Amino acid sequence: MRRLTVAPNLALATLWADMLTQGGFDASVQRAYASSIAGEVPPDQCLPEVWVMNDEQLEPARTLLDQLRHAPHRVWVCPGCHERIEGPFEQCWSCGAAMPA
Ligand SMILES: [Zn+2]
Repeated sequence: MRRLTVAPNLALATLWADMLTQGGFDASVQRAYASSIAGEVPPDQCLPEVWVMNDEQLEPARTLLDQLRHAPHRVWVCPGCHERIEGPFEQCWSCGAAMPA
């Protein structure tokens, strides 16, 4: 197992691990409950970490995580008029069709 990154909180660590899992990686959250022993370890060691199971997954997982963390907007193509939609929109601005699930 290799440590991929440290997350600022458990919710984000869980979200990233879920997204990586959906992306085909064996990702897991470690030290998720370390806050219960806060005071016994330095604060920077209490943060949740995201780990990948296989060493060879480390770099591709890091690449995917970077994309997830830095992607400013979604991009999708309208199923109705094939307009390319960028941004936090869930409806096509051209024909009003809903974003596909
Ligand atoms: Zn449309």
